[in-house]
Amino acid sequence: MAAPPIRFAPRDAFFTELKAEVEAHLATGGRDRHATMALHLKTAFLLVGLATVVTTALLMSMSWLTVVPMGVALGLFIGGIGFNIMHDANHGSYSRKPWVNRILGMSLDLLGGSSRLWRVKHNQVHHAWTNIEGVDDDIDVGFLGRMSPEQRWMKAHRFQHLYFWPLYGFLGVKWHWFDDFFQMARGKIGPREIGPLGRGGWALFILGKVVFFTWALVLPIAVMGPALGITFYLIAQITMGVVLAVVFQLAHCVEPAAFHPLSAGPVPVDFARHQLSSTVDFAAGNRLVTWYVGGLNYQAVHHLFPTISHAWYPELSPILARVAEKHGVTYLRIPTLRAAVASHYRFLKRMGARPTPEPATVDGLIAQANPLHP
Ligand SMILES: [Zn+2]
Repeated sequence: MAAPPIRFAPRDAFFTELKAEVEAHLATGGRDRHATMALHLKTAFLLVGLATVVTTALLMSMSWLTVVPMGVALGLFIGGIGFNIMHDANHGSYSRKPWVNRILGMSLDLLGGSSRLWRVKHNQVHHAWTNIEGVDDDIDVGFLGRMSPEQRWMKAHRFQHLYFWPLYGFLGVKWHWFDDFFQMARGKIGPREIGPLGRGGWALFILGKVVFFTWALVLPIAVMGPALGITFYLIAQITMGVVLAVVFQLAHCVEPAAFHPLSAGPVPVDFARHQLSSTVDFAAGNRLVTWYVGGLNYQAVHHLFPTISHAWYPELSPILARVAEKHGVTYLRIPTLRAAVASHYRFLKRMGARPTPEPATVDGLIAQANPLHP
C-alpha cells in the first residue's frame, strides 16, 4: 500500500520569510548550519562516557549497591547519545559530509535500535505527518493508551495518566526486542513502506542487534551473573526509556498541541503552520535541559528546520518568535520542564476520559480534536 497522500494548504508568506531570515542569520558571523565545536566536544564526552561506564561495570565487581547508579548512568549516556548525536546525524544535520552523518547515525544500531528503520519512522513518518491521527506512528501506542482524540477509547485508559509513566520505562526494551523485528516483518512503518534493505542494510541490521545484545546483556550476565547482569541491563533501559519517551511526549502530547484527524481530509493550513500548531517548545531558557536533550526542547524550531543542527536552535527561536508574531502565527511554548510534565499528565488524563460522541461534520471533528484551538 502506498503512503496516503496527505495534503496541506499551499505555503504562504510566513514560512518563506522565516526561511529567508534563518538562512540570512546562519550566513553571518562564520556560522555553519552543522555541528559546532561545542557539539563535537559533547559528542566525544558522551561516547567516551558510555564506553567508560560499560567497561567499568564489566571490570569492577558489581554489587547490589553499585548496580543502580551504574545502570542509571548508562541509561543517561544512551539517551544523551540518542538526542545529541544519533538524532542530528540521521537528519543529516550533524555534518556537511554525508558519510559522517551515516556513521554517527549508526550509533543507534549499537544502542539497540536500527538507523535505517529510524529514518523511515522518524524522518518520513513522524516529521512529515506530525500529530496526524492514523498516520503519525509516534502517537500510536495500540490498545495501551489513547494518545489523540480520534483513537478508540477503552475503559482502562481512564488510568493512563498513572500507568503510562512506568510503561515509558519499557520503551527501549519493547523497541529492541519487538518493534524493529515486527516492522521488518511487516515491511512498513505506519503507512510508509520501508523499501528494500539490500545486503548492506541487512548486514547492519543483524550486526547491530548482535553487537548490542552482546555488550548490553550477554557480557553483563557472563561477568556479573544473571541477577546482577539483567538488573544492570533493565535499570539502564528503564532510565533511557523514561527520559526518551518524556522528552518526545512533551513536544507533541501536551495540552496546547493540536491534532488533525485523517478523516477530516486535507490539512487546512500549510505545512509550517501545521508543524507549529502540533509541536510545542518547552523549558527554552533551561541550559542544562537544552544541553542534555540536544535542543529537542526547541521542537518547534526542529520541526521547521530538521536539517539544521540543534546547536543553533536557541539562536533561531527568537527569529521564529518574531516572524510568527508578524504573521499572526502562534508559536507554542511551555516555560519550564515542570510545567511541561504537568501538561503531559493532564493531557493523558483528558485523553483517557470517556470521549463525547463523534461529531458528524468535518469542522466538528477538528474542533473536538483541538479543544484549545477555537
Ligand atoms: Zn527529528
